[in-house]
Amino acid sequence: MSRCELCGSEDRRVVYHLAALKKGEPRSVTNALCLRCGLIFNDPAPSDEELVRYYQGEFLKDKTATGYEEIARAAERKMKNEGRKELRVIDFLAPLLKKDASVLDIGCSMGALLSDFKVRYSGKVTGVEPDEIYVRIAREFFKLPDIRHEFLDDFCSRDQGTYDLVILRHVLEHLKAPHLRIEQLKKLMASEGVLYLAFPNGARMRASRELAHCLEFGHLFTYTPWSIHHLLNSHGMKIVKWDYDEAMQLQVAAVRAEVPFEAVSFNEFLEGSDPERLFRYLKGHDRRHFVYRALRKMKRISSFISGGRKDEK
Ligand SMILES: [Zn+2]
Repeated sequence: MSRCELCGSEDRRVVYHLAALKKGEPRSVTNALCLRCGLIFNDPAPSDEELVRYYQGEFLKDKTATGYEEIARAAERKMKNEGRKELRVIDFLAPLLKKDASVLDIGCSMGALLSDFKVRYSGKVTGVEPDEIYVRIAREFFKLPDIRHEFLDDFCSRDQGTYDLVILRHVLEHLKAPHLRIEQLKKLMASEGVLYLAFPNGARMRASRELAHCLEFGHLFTYTPWSIHHLLNSHGMKIVKWDYDEAMQLQVAAVRAEVPFEAVSFNEFLEGSDPERLFRYLKGHDRRHFVYRALRKMKRISSFISGGRKDEK
């Protein structure tokens, strides 16, 4: 039996089974919840081969097969949008950063967030991005000189920089080995540096559809306030700021425990995300999603039958 990668417990329950039909191969994914620490994880975890096939195939087809021109146009539209999410990330982090803060964005995508940081802060900005087209957009469109075309592991094996801010925006849930990641990230942070994480919150999805997205293939781990607190705390870190965005995505800022920022109020932050409560919540969603799928299937069958009848006429 596999153990929870966060706390080592074997006490887990299956909470969500998604027979997902993504573009390309049909994939089914089962998620389990650790009843000790509240981590939600793909169980069994996909093999490395499956993940490589996924990221080189349908994931990129979704994100970048549109090519350089189209992404450049999307980047242009984004920068004209004064309500863009990137600016809200900047506002969220502003009270924690000095004006000359250096910033590292891991999985920086097209570089829009780094570009906004570059305008407001005088420190160096660095991006790490495995996708070639995004790297080109970041360098050529956003004129970001320091974008590394590689994965986090490769970057960490060479660069032990001391960044004032390290960003993982919708990246952590895709990465294997959570404990190793946090150690890697700490080595990249200055002693008083800030770690920014944004991820879908497994404890606050309002609709089954959102939960299905949250627990999809490729999200190896789904974090909640409870489990992210445990993960960071076990590496001597504390959460000093948090917020939900409009899509109920959770964003947190964390620092080493000894940094003199005040930790967040746990009552508010952890509310409703303890493992027992989360278990009941997810099972409720799973049942509703099952009914929804069954109804859709009936609808398809009935339209198939009535379509068949028309043909007979
Ligand atoms: Zn656990």
